[in-house]
Formats: sequence, C-alpha cells, structure tokens
Amino acid sequence: MFGGEKEIRISHLENCATCNGTGARPGTRPRTCSTCNGAGQVRRAARTPFGSFTQVSVCPTCDGEGQVIEEKCETCAGRGERLVTKTVKISIPAGVDDGRRLRVAGHGDGGRRGGPPGDLYVFITVDKDPEFQREGINIISELKISYIQAILSSRVEVNTVDDKPQELLIPAGTQPGTVLKLEGKGVPRLENPANRGDHLIIVMVDVPTKISPEERELLEKIAKIRGDRIEKGGIEGFFGKVFGA
Ligand SMILES: [Zn+2]
Ligand SMILES: [Zn+2]
Repeated sequence: MFGGEKEIRISHLENCATCNGTGARPGTRPRTCSTCNGAGQVRRAARTPFGSFTQVSVCPTCDGEGQVIEEKCETCAGRGERLVTKTVKISIPAGVDDGRRLRVAGHGDGGRRGGPPGDLYVFITVDKDPEFQREGINIISELKISYIQAILSSRVEVNTVDDKPQELLIPAGTQPGTVLKLEGKGVPRLENPANRGDHLIIVMVDVPTKISPEERELLEKIAKIRGDRIEKGGIEGFFGKVFGA
C-alpha cells in the first residue's frame, strides 16, 4: 500500500574477485585462441553438387570465447564467476500490486568475463488481509451495524488502511448491502502515489438471534403500531413448545 524497504536473500553469480572474472590465474592472461584467431567462430568451405557454401560454427577449441585460459584461476576453476548468496535491500514503491515485477539494477548475475552485472527481477506477492480486500486502487471492507442504526442513522468508526479509524455516517434507512464510500482512503496510484483510490464499505445489517425480554416487549409494541403480524414469543418460544423446554 504505502511502500517501504524489504530485505531479501538471493543467489546470484558474481565475478570472481581473485581473477577479476577472467578465469585466468593471477599473473597470467588468457591467450588468443589460435584456432579461430579470437573470432570465436570458424568458417569452413563446403563443396556440394549444388555449389560452394561457407559454414560458420562455434570454435570448438575455445567454445566461442575467442580466448583460451592456459592456467586456470584456482578460486573459480577458470569459470570467472562464483555463486554468492547475499541479502539485498529493495525498495517497494507505494501502490504496488500482487504479481508486479520490480527491477533492481545491478543485482543480477555478473557479466561474462568481468563484464558489468545484469539486473535482478523481483516478483511481488501481496499477502491477503483478513479485513481489507483490494480491487485495483480501491479498498473494500465490510461493516456490521445493528438494524436500529440502519433505521435511525448513526455515526460509526470504521477501520481504514491508514493508522487512524475514520468516522462514517450511516444515513437513516440504510439497506443491507449498501456501499458507502470514504473518498481518497484507498490505494495510492503506482504512477502518482499522492492520488489514492477510495475505500468502499459494504454495510451488513445485523439481525439479532437473541434479544432480552425488555427488547422483545418494545419490539412487540412497535409491531403493534406498524400493524405487523408477529408470532408471539418468537422462534425460541416455538422450539420451547415443540421440545417442552
Ligand atoms: Zn577466478
Ligand atoms: Zn577459438
């Protein structure tokens, strides 16, 4: 969401420090391959009934390197590189999403024969959050309110991805499944982190399964005013009758 720094362990090839990546023992130098004269490839003229062709192939003596190491570096056995495991600190940009690829310049494998190193690519996996879901640059969460709050309106505190909870006004007559919006409380845009998406809040209306005798009495009064037909004693009373509890 907001970016940061993270340390990761990687294995990559580094140029051998003993021979500076040349593969030759210190004090000696690779010599130019005499088979290909340093070109790394050999040409052969092939005569066929259809005419003469020039065939180009990788030099078998130097394997295309153009050079032959006569005395190998003992540290790297002439390879010029060695496998190194190390910790790299990478900076995560704000707004980065699952599956995004980050390029970390200069932390890839060392270049051939002492050349500059390539880049490291890091694939980002974002952990799921039990409370917040992400959809593009918007954040989605659910909010449970009582049926009284839904009917009469209320101000409630909701958790946001920012540190502080935010006050949210539930309008009178809010229906279950209504989506309320906290503007600018979503995910920062990767290209422009000052610009943030919205936080969408899906309102869930809690219908109690247990109520006190006092609440029941009041609700039965309301039902009478509204003219709603109800079952006296509710479902608990029903089971009470059936099972004789
Ligand atoms: Zn070496
Ligand atoms: Zn050669």
